[in-house]
Amino acid sequence: MILILLGPPGAGKGTQAERLVARFGIVQLSTGEMLRAAVAANTDLGRKAMTVLDRGDLVSDDIVIGIIADRIGQPDCAKGFILDGFPRTVAQAEALDAMLAEKGLSLKYVVSIEVDEKVLFDRIENRARETGGARSDDNAETLRKRLGVYREQTAPIIPYYRKRGILVTVDGMQSVDEVSRSLYVILG
Ligand code: AMP
Repeated sequence: MILILLGPPGAGKGTQAERLVARFGIVQLSTGEMLRAAVAANTDLGRKAMTVLDRGDLVSDDIVIGIIADRIGQPDCAKGFILDGFPRTVAQAEALDAMLAEKGLSLKYVVSIEVDEKVLFDRIENRARETGGARSDDNAETLRKRLGVYREQTAPIIPYYRKRGILVTVDGMQSVDEVSRSLYVILG
């Protein structure tokens, strides 16, 4: 099973992806986590990505497409995977299509978790408190920027998948457990 979880920052993609991993035995591929790991390890990629992440901008398509192309070829992805935070642009969505087609794979669903923007500020503030500020981009100023980037660059991939008939939407204003239940119903 290959899934994409879409939604603005704070929609709950990471939380729900973890639950789906446990339920379906597939892996979670989070480009944000991979980039943060590269920053923490101070690799060449990490040094390049750090200022971009802190600004709330997107890392270039070439870089993240390369990361995902490598990752989905690894053996633990054979049973399926959940993409959390990728694709984030139409160019990334097109590149993903080409990668999957080449491997004879196809997307099962693209799940858009829909949330009222106003609650995202509280959620991100909570996450910053709970994690002791582990993510340098979890603050109101960067969140505003990340939301603008989401609206302008990521939201256009929603119609891209809707046209293909694989888009499903979930009400992300429900509790975490209710969102999970909605996902389990959709995914069977
Ligand atoms: P996330 O953990 O998904 O919120 O991602 C954190 C940050 O990593 C984003 O604000 C971007 O700077 C970067 N990032 C993550 N995924 C992508 C992607 N698919 N394309 C470009 N930048 C990304």
